[in-house]
Amino acid sequence: MLAEYRSFDEPTLGAWSLDTVVYRAPGGGLLDVAHDLAALAEARTGAGWRELFDRRAGARGYPDRSGVWGKREWVLPAIDEQHILTLGEGNTQLLPVPRLGRELGLASLWIKQCGHTHTGSFKDWGMTVLVSQVNRMRRLGLAKIAAIGCASTGDTSAALSAYAALAEIPAVVFLPADKISIAQLVQPIANGAIVLSLDTDFDGCMRIVQEVVEALPIYLANSMNPLRLEGQKTVAIEIAQQLGWELPDWVVVPGGNLGNVYALYKGFAMMRELGVVDGPLPRLAVAQAARANPLYRAFQSGFEDVQPVKAGTTFASAIQIGDPVSMGRAISALRATRGVVEQASEAELLDACARADRTGLFTCPHTGVALAALEKLVGAGTIKADERVVVVSTAHGLKFTDSKVAYHKGDLDGSARLDGLAARHRNPPLGVEAKLGPVVDALRARLGI
Ligand SMILES: *Cc1c(COP(=O)(O)O)cnc(C)c1O
Repeated sequence: MLAEYRSFDEPTLGAWSLDTVVYRAPGGGLLDVAHDLAALAEARTGAGWRELFDRRAGARGYPDRSGVWGKREWVLPAIDEQHILTLGEGNTQLLPVPRLGRELGLASLWIKQCGHTHTGSFKDWGMTVLVSQVNRMRRLGLAKIAAIGCASTGDTSAALSAYAALAEIPAVVFLPADKISIAQLVQPIANGAIVLSLDTDFDGCMRIVQEVVEALPIYLANSMNPLRLEGQKTVAIEIAQQLGWELPDWVVVPGGNLGNVYALYKGFAMMRELGVVDGPLPRLAVAQAARANPLYRAFQSGFEDVQPVKAGTTFASAIQIGDPVSMGRAISALRATRGVVEQASEAELLDACARADRTGLFTCPHTGVALAALEKLVGAGTIKADERVVVVSTAHGLKFTDSKVAYHKGDLDGSARLDGLAARHRNPPLGVEAKLGPVVDALRARLGI
């Protein structure tokens, strides 16, 4: 077996084929995809893998050109190329952002643009793997699967809907009514998914979808499903690859359901294990919205007291999760990397977004949470000025314009949850009479000339 499911907490409990429909280990624990590392080490040296991955990253055709499938031996080693469904995920920019770095007091700051993908969030990296594996099982007659379903704060459903449409497999998405952006809602609608808008929050949708997949032959696509993490893992590999096969000192990532932070850890650990990189693993910093901060609270207690919270409304709607499925996975990743958790208030995340946008970026609120947390970690001396830092940007800013529009228009003043909003980067449009004189006056005032 090149790769198989194992219990996350107790790997010796047994192994299950990736060609079966299974979401939990006996006893209810989470699963992990375990790779045959000895076979991978036998197949190529670290330098050999680097050379293969570099060659594929520059390839002209798919699936090699996909950042995920260019690393397919580490992702789904048994899949046939004909079953792979790709929308060109991965191979995204790792941008140096020197101006923002200087403002934050960092000599080497990078943004990994994980949301510059087909559906505008990092969810594509994992969904391509899950839907391709379901496609394989259906095509080979290995499992009876009528549809693929997920609960979502918006981005997972968009990714599922796109890949399922590509695969000609029905998609069913469970969304919390009125809690996602219009751009997120229209994506599954446009891609032909069955959209169920439920009068509850994400955690409520998640509970229902888990019951539905017991009652109907619908395959569960939430990140409890470890297949998605295998694709997301390649973000870590790509970061190292883009740094010339070196590791950064820190990776800062916004966390909600907490699958992504574990996936990053897994990618870094696997590279080191197989001799593709060496040196210490990057320290991971998870950033949470203060209004949905169960991991932050757990971290404060040294992971002694781990409890769900009732998530409050936040502009970082994709991480408005009080009871994260991958809490245990995240804690293990943080322990293994001497990781930390920081939080950001609504005011802090909006100001952080606006500040980054002033340097030419166009950040989503979740990336704002990460940047606000980074600022605090630098301020506290946890992250040092000379350390190399990568911030994982999880979605395209164009998917989340509501909060930016409100910020710049000044529509947010007076909202209690925005206490402390400095709004010093506010830039409202100037209403000027359509005549030369007033226009010149306005420009003189603004430019100071
Ligand atoms: C899903 C999502 C997250 C959170 O990722 P987790 O793996 O659930 O922690 C963060 N930002 C955006 C934009 C997302 O869509």
